[in-house]
Amino acid sequence: MLRFTQALRASVQTGLRFQHTSPHVALGSTKSASAGYSFELSEQQKEFRDTARKFAREEIIPAAPHYDKTGEFPVPLIKRAWELGLMNSHIPEHCGGLGLGIFDACLITEELAYGCTGVQTAIEANSLGQMPVIIAGNNDQQKKYLGRMSEEPLMCAYCVTEPGAGSDVAGIKTRAEKKGNEYIINGQKMWITNGGAANWYFLLARTDPDPKAPANKAFTGFIIDADTPGVQPGRKEINMGQRCSDTRGITFEDVRVPKENVLIGEGAGFKVAMGAFDKTRPPVAAGATGLAQRALDEATKYALERKTFGKVLAHHQAVSFILAEMAMKVELARMAYQRAAWEVDEGRRNTYFASIAKAFAGDIANQVASDAVQVFGGNGFNSEYPVEKLMRDAKIYQIYEGTAQIQRIIIAREHLAKYTV
Ligand SMILES: Cc1cc2nc3c(=O)[nH]c(=O)nc-3n(C[C@H](O)[C@H](O)[C@H](O)COP(=O)(O)OP(=O)(O)OC[C@H]3O[C@@H](n4cnc5c(N)ncnc54)[C@H](O)[C@@H]3O)c2cc1C
Repeated sequence: MLRFTQALRASVQTGLRFQHTSPHVALGSTKSASAGYSFELSEQQKEFRDTARKFAREEIIPAAPHYDKTGEFPVPLIKRAWELGLMNSHIPEHCGGLGLGIFDACLITEELAYGCTGVQTAIEANSLGQMPVIIAGNNDQQKKYLGRMSEEPLMCAYCVTEPGAGSDVAGIKTRAEKKGNEYIINGQKMWITNGGAANWYFLLARTDPDPKAPANKAFTGFIIDADTPGVQPGRKEINMGQRCSDTRGITFEDVRVPKENVLIGEGAGFKVAMGAFDKTRPPVAAGATGLAQRALDEATKYALERKTFGKVLAHHQAVSFILAEMAMKVELARMAYQRAAWEVDEGRRNTYFASIAKAFAGDIANQVASDAVQVFGGNGFNSEYPVEKLMRDAKIYQIYEGTAQIQRIIIAREHLAKYTV
């Protein structure tokens, strides 16, 4: 990696302490810094955040309207984010990465999302594709598939959803049949972020043909090189928002995968695929928070300039209260993702907090973006102004990585479990 990443890595190694990172991440340090309560970021966390902030404001924001209009995959921005060490931050050090915790990754994600959530989603989808390999890959798999991403700006993707099954993951039909030392994979995936740009995929397939087999035994997780014969990405989907993110269906036809590419073992796939979400939902919530912060900033600036009835909008109490409500939501969404990230970095099961963060931030991103359009009046409805894009971009946060409804199912389950023996 280039110079800046090396500098960031050096600062990790000199022991500049992350307040919120996990013991395996915090090199040569103790957990003591996370004891007690503090909202202060470490110097290193500020460095990550400020680097991402500068990149988002100076490079992403000026380019975002072009990518939104054309839907082009933002290759130059991705390359630049890679050079700056702002993507793949979870890749462990033994694979050439920074080995950051989720909290630190979230700080970066919020800033990137402030610039453009289409760009942020493309970057975040790398983390989603990598996470099963990070949590369940053996040393060889990690070195081979994560290592190459530290050497060049490659993309990967997470292939679970199918045309017939999204929320109901156990309903997926893609089959993997063992033949000698290989598995033969047949099936169709849908809505795969980075689908046409990925160098490799994480894929979930059914290995037990018995429809009555429990989910935690019926499915297996695979790593699949994108250039394997039989892997056929479909056309780029034209979506409502985050339009430069590359979303595709992918057909897998007699795709031969060596057994070395199975994660953990046959039957472990469901747990691996779902387990990734505890670590990827906090960053998704951070992305939604970044979008909401942008909407709040844009609305506030506009409200301080635009005059009606002889005074600026912000001095009409009704408008200032809209801004106050927006600010409340942004602050709480930020606290929610930080709590969820901190929990998992501390090695605790954070499913409850991750779903709260994801659901809340996804919802408020939509409310706050819509409020921003309202503050802009007619101009808010027009693509010459920045907020209509935010409103279109926000919607997906209530859909991908588990819909708003699925998060509530998880939160209710986790909540009620505390009351039942
Ligand atoms: C732009 C984009 C990018 C995506 N990226 C990826 C990716 O990289 N990898 C990947 O694997 N997938 C990806 N997805 C898929 C995404 O995760 C699914 O779309 C999502 O999980 C919902 O599944 P579905 O579309 O099949 O909707 P369905 O599951 O059919 O749900 C439809 C509606 O019914 C509701 N619903 C369903 N079941 C219940 C229930 N039990 N109780 C209450 N309400 C319910 C849902 O909340 C939703 O509102 C992406 C999707 C999009 C649009």
